[in-house]
Parts: sequence; structure tokens; C-alpha cells
Amino acid sequence: MQKYVFVVVTLLLISYYPCVSSNQENKILEIINEVNEDSLYYYDKTIQDFGPHPTGSEACQKVAEFIYNEFKSYGLSVEYDEWKINRLEGKNVVATLPGKDNYTVIISAHYDSVAVSPGADDDGSGISCVLMAAKILSRYSFQHTVKFIAFSGEEEGLYGSAHYARNAYENGEIIIADLQLDGVGHAVSKEGGDKIRISANDASTWITDAAEEITERYGEEIGLKIMRHRNFPGSDHQSFLNYGYEGIFFLEYEFNPYYHSPQDTIENVNISYLTKVCKLAVATLAELADEDVPMIVRIVEPERGAIYFGGKKIMDLESYKTIVFGKTHAKVEIMAKDNIKRVEFYFDGELRGVDDEAPFEYVYGKIAAFNHMIKAIAYGENSEDINEIEITVFNFLPKYWLS
Ligand SMILES: [Zn+2]
Repeated sequence: MQKYVFVVVTLLLISYYPCVSSNQENKILEIINEVNEDSLYYYDKTIQDFGPHPTGSEACQKVAEFIYNEFKSYGLSVEYDEWKINRLEGKNVVATLPGKDNYTVIISAHYDSVAVSPGADDDGSGISCVLMAAKILSRYSFQHTVKFIAFSGEEEGLYGSAHYARNAYENGEIIIADLQLDGVGHAVSKEGGDKIRISANDASTWITDAAEEITERYGEEIGLKIMRHRNFPGSDHQSFLNYGYEGIFFLEYEFNPYYHSPQDTIENVNISYLTKVCKLAVATLAELADEDVPMIVRIVEPERGAIYFGGKKIMDLESYKTIVFGKTHAKVEIMAKDNIKRVEFYFDGELRGVDDEAPFEYVYGKIAAFNHMIKAIAYGENSEDINEIEITVFNFLPKYWLS
């Protein structure tokens, strides 16, 4: 009898493990195959047909309504997230697919254009992918919450996303990753049609790794090669990075000569290229939405968007910037299933201190001026994570202020 039980359990284990991963693989494959040219063409054509739609214009309002109604028609809960910065007003359109936990993954793009351009590529192409993702993923369920976001105010200075990321940061939301698509529909040459640029900062390269794994696993279905870049700050993912979150930016390989011009129209968008990029982005999103997150480290001191004097916060700032006079007291918070062995604290890439017990913190007494990067890396038994913050620091008297 015992032998029999043992055999059954063993068989169950053998069949269970490969089965889980192949279920996941089938789910992703099914999702990839649902991405289609017709829908993407329809979305992008509809957006460009509103004409140029800079933030604040009537056309921009109409594009927002179009996106809102599409999200709604997929059965998602949808909200306008209104913002006002430097006398400009706008709203983001945010759709949510609730998960089983409170971790969130985001796919985003911007729906505003510049004043002279119908914006089919910049960024009708990205918005089309966000809508496609919403339409498909709304029929599945995932471990983490998935958000589909169309930002405005991007062309004026990432205003919509800055507002969104600031609120998320202040509310302590746990965003695992943002996938931003901005200009992903231009390809003329064979090479341009086979490659996609992804830019990421150090803390976010794991997301590019995940996308790369997708291109390898589903090479036949997607047919794209990823060109990795250091972070390009010029799109909405940057707002997430500014608040200590992680995100990557998808950008077409070839430079688009119609960029910000009246010729940025649907005729100049390569729909089959856009479809490939969309497959990659949606599959990566779906993969992350079910992925186990073993550790998240966040620098909680100094706060983002604050001024410090002698180690104490003296005021909040409207921007994400952190300005420190005197010593810098860095402290991290860690969410992990793992035991934390140590946290390393870096200053401009140089290791300055190690803390091996909670609370994990370090005081930088270094003489410094202007902009510097503080980075913390936490190590567990089986996992690690990085977080960084750029600070503007003025510290000329470390021996007096280091207490
Ligand atoms: Zn853009």
C-alpha cells in the first residue's frame, strides 16, 4: 500500500510540475495568437482620424473618450485620472484588471500628440498596443493586478505620468513594472522590421531579461530581436523610475522621419511590425502578471520629492526631486519571502557601506555637491533586488553633521 502511494505521489509530482509550466506557456501562446493586425489598424486609424490631438484640445478629449469606451467595452473598470500641472490640465485613462494580490503590473503609452501631427506612430502605435492588451487580457485572470494606462501631457513634459506615479508613490502602491510603448510602428527596412529597442535603468534590466526570454521562447510567433539600451528618459516610464519604480521603454529600431510632423499618419505605420511589437509587449505583460516576486527593495529615506537639512526632512516638493543639505541618511524597506542577509549601500556606483540587520540603513557623510546616485542592493538566500535614487546634495561639513 505504502509503495503504491509513493508511486502515485511520484507520478503526480512528475506530471504536475511540467504541466504547470506548459499551462502557462499555452496561456501565453494563446494570448500572442490573439494579437491581430485588424484590431491594431482599427485603433490606430481611429486615433489619427481625430486629427492632431495635443493635450487640452477638443480632439484630445475625443481620443480620451474613445479609449475610455474601448476599455469599458472589455468589461474593465475604467477611471479618468485628472491632473493639473503648470496651468495645463489633462486626464489619464486608467483601466484595471484586478488580480489575486495587491502587486500591479502596468502597460502604458501616451494618447496626446504634438500640435501639428495626427500622431499615428507617436503615440497612436503605443496606445493601440495598450488597447489590444486590454482587450485580450480582460478575458484571462492573473496573480497580480494589471493596469492599462493611456497618459496625456507627455509631449509637454511627462505631466500625466508624473501625476500618476506621484500618487502611486504617496499611496504606497506596489508597482512591479511599467512597460511603456512610445513610437513602435515605424519600420521600412528588413533590419528595422526585425528589431526593437528596449531601454532600461540598472534596476529594471530584469524586465528586459523577461522580454528577451519571451522572444526566445516564442521566436517563431514574434520574430523580433531586442536591442538593449541604457535608459532613455524621454517617455512616461521615466515618471515611474523617478519615484523608485521599475520600467522599460519600447521604441522602434529605425528613426521615424515623420516624427512630430503632419506625415505621422497611418499610411506611414507598418502594421505588421506594430503587430510583432505588440505580441512581444503583451506576452511580456502576461508573463510578469503571473510571475512570482521574491523580493522588492525600496529606498524609503530620503523620500522622493523632499528637502532635507542635517538628516531631517524640512519640506515636500512638487517635483520628484530630492535635495539634501548635510548628511544623507539612507534607509530601505524590503518585502521578501527570503531571509535578508545584507544590504549594500552605494554612492555613484561605489560601495560605501553594508548593513546586515534590520532596520537596513546607512549614513553617508561624504563631502559632495550637486547630483549623485544612491543605490541599495539587498541580498537574500535566493534573491536580490536593486533600488536607486538620484539626489542633489550639498554636504561640506561632514564632521559636524555626521552625528
Ligand atoms: Zn511619444
